Amino acid sequence: YTGKTSEQSERIGNLYVKDYYSCPVVASDTTSVYDAIVTMFTEDVGTIFIVDANNALAGVVSRKDMLRASIGKQELSSLPVTIIMTRMPNITYCYLDDKLVDVGKKLIEREIDSLPVVKEEQDGFKVIGRVTKTNITKALVNLSNE
Ligand code: ADP
Repeated sequence: YTGKTSEQSERIGNLYVKDYYSCPVVASDTTSVYDAIVTMFTEDVGTIFIVDANNALAGVVSRKDMLRASIGKQELSSLPVTIIMTRMPNITYCYLDDKLVDVGKKLIEREIDSLPVVKEEQDGFKVIGRVTKTNITKALVNLSNE
């Protein structure tokens, strides 16, 4: 390692979720696939987090989940999003005080685009944000501008 390299990796290792996360887009577990697709377009996101009646994280739906459902023969407005979502406990999530590099590692390992940022409460995980590949890219660009 040159001095510069370790200095750079130290700076990257000092980036935290709490400084770079964005607003989550959530929908209820009573939503249809059709409405989830509309939300994905109107909110301009690639992933929607599905919450239950207690507002706790229940699932994740991505663009590919929607495409898969759309090439089937089902009526999308009567197909519940819960049928096609990736559900708890198979959701990869993170916390506000996690390091951004650890989120990056999870995105790579699991081959996914985003993680919900959660807060543990009695009746489940509350979704308070999201971290996407874009957030991580912005953090890197910021570092180079410093
Ligand atoms: P896309 O489908 O738009 O390319 P992803 O690569 O993120 O988006 O999603 C791929 C698959 O992984 C989908 O089936 C999705 O439900 C699932 N997925 C996405 N994010 C998560 C997550 N944080 N935890 C678990 N599964 C996820």
